[in-house]
Amino acid sequence: MHLLIPAAGSGRRMGSQRNKLLLTLLGKPLLSWTLAAAEASRHISWIGIMGQPEDFPAFKAILSDLSLVMPVKLIKGGATRQESVYNGLQALPPSADRVLIHDGARCLATPELFDRSAEALLTCPGLIVAVPVKDTIKVVDERRIVQDTPDRRNLWAAQTPQGFEVKLLKQCHQEGRQKSWEVTDDAALFEKCGLPVQIVEGEETNLKVTTPVDLALAEFILRQRTVTVDS
Ligand code: C5P
Repeated sequence: MHLLIPAAGSGRRMGSQRNKLLLTLLGKPLLSWTLAAAEASRHISWIGIMGQPEDFPAFKAILSDLSLVMPVKLIKGGATRQESVYNGLQALPPSADRVLIHDGARCLATPELFDRSAEALLTCPGLIVAVPVKDTIKVVDERRIVQDTPDRRNLWAAQTPQGFEVKLLKQCHQEGRQKSWEVTDDAALFEKCGLPVQIVEGEETNLKVTTPVDLALAEFILRQRTVTVDS
């Protein structure tokens, strides 16, 4: 299974001058944790990482520390996540018929989650991992007045990995570019094109490290895992 990792963002919401994926978590860059989990999955055999060229030397240093067994390709990212994934899709080898896409910032995803997603992708054209939402969600207008309260039983929080048939996702991205759709995940393009997206049970700990609080939480969770393994 081929895996694309969008890693071309900035550290803006983290309050950092550099790509947040290069910040350290228990002494290792965030991206290093993400890659280690992907490598430990039984199903991943090729990885493409979309990044900004100025980060490539740091990415190469991470890769050389990890000495991954599978081929890894560095791909130039775009101005948005959507553009970065588009570039990644163009850089896939011709043999790739299904692809998992996993945000570099979700550095706590487990190898089992990659396995579960890869196995489910053999039975459907598109999927996302997601968890039921715990909060009551409000739809709010630009004046910050609540417009609606959707039934929580139908709400799931989308995570990554997300997985797709490559041919279909390429078509969806192409249509999205033609129609200037702006989306924050790939499933949204699939949905807009009328294609089905299957839910796979995600992990509550699979948070996307975005703010300093997330970094502290991620560190806590990783420490707990290390303690569990050591004891
Ligand atoms: O900014 P956010 O955390 O939502 O980004 C999700 C993922 O998309 C991150 O791993 C980030 O590095 C990646 N990204 C990207 N290209 C961009 C913006 C974000 O690959 N231009």
